[in-house]
Amino acid sequence: MLTRMSSLFLRTLREDPADAEVPSHKLLVRAGYVRRVAPGIYSWLPLGLRVLRTIEQVVREEMDAIGAQEIHLPALLPKEPYEATGRWTEYGPNIFRLKDRKGGDYLLGPTHEELFTQLVKGEYSSYKDYPVMLYQIQTKYRDEARPRAGILRGREFLMKDSYSFDLADEGLAKSYQLHRAAYVRIFERLGLEYVIVKATSGAMGGSASEEFLAVAPTGEDTFVRSPGGYAANVEAVTTPAPPARDVEGLPAAQAHYTPDTPTIETLVAFLNNDASLNRSGLRRTFTAADTLKNVLVKTRQPGKTEWTLLGIGVPGDREVDMKRLEAALDPAEVALLDESDFAKHPFLVKGYIGPAALAANGVRYLVDPRVATGTAWVTGADKVDHHVVDLVAGRDFTPDGTIEAAEVREGDPAPDGSGPLEAARGIEIGHVFQLGRKYADAMGLDALGPDGKPVRVTMGSYGVGVSRLVAVIAEQSHDDSGLIWPRAVAPADVHIVIAGKTDEITAGGEQLAAELDAAGLRVLLDDRKASPGVKFADAELIGVPTIVVVGRGLATGVVEVKDRRSGERTEILLETVVSHLQELTGTR
Ligand code: ATP
Ligand code: MG
Repeated sequence: MLTRMSSLFLRTLREDPADAEVPSHKLLVRAGYVRRVAPGIYSWLPLGLRVLRTIEQVVREEMDAIGAQEIHLPALLPKEPYEATGRWTEYGPNIFRLKDRKGGDYLLGPTHEELFTQLVKGEYSSYKDYPVMLYQIQTKYRDEARPRAGILRGREFLMKDSYSFDLADEGLAKSYQLHRAAYVRIFERLGLEYVIVKATSGAMGGSASEEFLAVAPTGEDTFVRSPGGYAANVEAVTTPAPPARDVEGLPAAQAHYTPDTPTIETLVAFLNNDASLNRSGLRRTFTAADTLKNVLVKTRQPGKTEWTLLGIGVPGDREVDMKRLEAALDPAEVALLDESDFAKHPFLVKGYIGPAALAANGVRYLVDPRVATGTAWVTGADKVDHHVVDLVAGRDFTPDGTIEAAEVREGDPAPDGSGPLEAARGIEIGHVFQLGRKYADAMGLDALGPDGKPVRVTMGSYGVGVSRLVAVIAEQSHDDSGLIWPRAVAPADVHIVIAGKTDEITAGGEQLAAELDAAGLRVLLDDRKASPGVKFADAELIGVPTIVVVGRGLATGVVEVKDRRSGERTEILLETVVSHLQELTGTR
């Protein structure tokens, strides 16, 4: 295939777009791959569309290879199936809703669990029909709160979504593993650096779910990893609990007057200076980690109106991480208490809340796993200016359970013992999820079993951000001059620059382009009437992995072959250049 820059629908830009922050956004716009229409809504121009279609094809091949069947559902959907699962309300402002001429409610699909479930329910009835895996590569719509970074987070974007339908849990586990392995192959083929992270800790009985994160400093997702290969979302990190200790013989708890100590810092300073504590034979150094901080929140179950108080106890040297707390309490909603909540519950003494008042007033109290039986703490005594010292878990108070709500810090041990954690950033490129029977329950998807009894179907859902991948690859593979496409997705195999105005040079470039085209290479030929400087700059910007310069060297029978990534230039004899390039681009 031969593409001439002289007629290609392409205008490169010298300036970064004003709204662009991340490199992929700047470069894809400047190199003429995409154009913005509205926030989070982009048009694909010829070179961009080629890359997009190539990625789409890689995804399609790997899905077909695991036996998933491609179908295509509409993006414009009636609300009823989404009402059946509650997502019409749950999605809130994140979906685009519209009305037809008769006033009927519709939405633009953000993801299609409901529709696939409904479809399978309509077509299949017997256990003999299962298992089945279906997928589509389709435009999705989400009214993202912060459409940013160009096509990285669009409001209209291309996703591959697949769904597996099985009769038994083992079947689901197998479908899940097939998808996971297919995703590994897809992202390897695309040359991405990525990690697979556990998406949820499963502490609340959540089903298996993993996310594929492309490693990128511009990513919105934070994850942690260890030298030994552990990787997880911060929400999914579990805290190794110290073994329970015998409470026998530990010093008795004592309440102390600790004036003006509503914060952990003021408390620790006071404890270390207080003579009365030393008099009690407690001569020791206290740190924030010896204190137990009790944070009060309120939670609300989905579909309910009333809020319930919940106490969270974490070591005083750590904050409560709201995202971890939300993930741990999901699907319940969480909010911090406001002044009126404190006014309503006078037993909550701000700055001095302790486990005693919570227990006495029936407030559920969950603690960090470090608050194991036999550990001793300094904590609030439920009275202004008072704290208890040596309050022992399992002896002086009994929490209702543990919760992963404390912040995770770099240097914390990985839960699998594989070393200290470090924080990194990533972009979600894929998600594999064992849904279980949630959707089948909501929509009544059963198969008639061999004994004539209905069997509830269990499902998985699996997504890949196809359009996002274009930007993610650009994010991982570029330099100051422009894009650098891996061969597997590049919009062309070679980019020929005709660098000179003479008839010989023009004819030489044309001839080489024709020969490479005939040899099966995809050629981008810069035959424009522009200066070599402009052409070189555009070639760097566009990012085809091999650039061939046909210029003055032609007189001595050579052309220059430049590797876009390394910048290395080699002079190659005209007679051998076609086979050299075939070799280089893997097209022979
Ligand atoms: P994110 O956390 O980035 O918002 P998500 O968890 O909402 O993503 P899923 O519902 O799991 O996304 O969708 C499957 C895949 O679709 C994601 O892994 C991601 O690659 C892609 N994707 C999701 N939202 C967008 C978007 N707004 N623009 C482009 N791609 C997206
Ligand atoms: Mg996701």
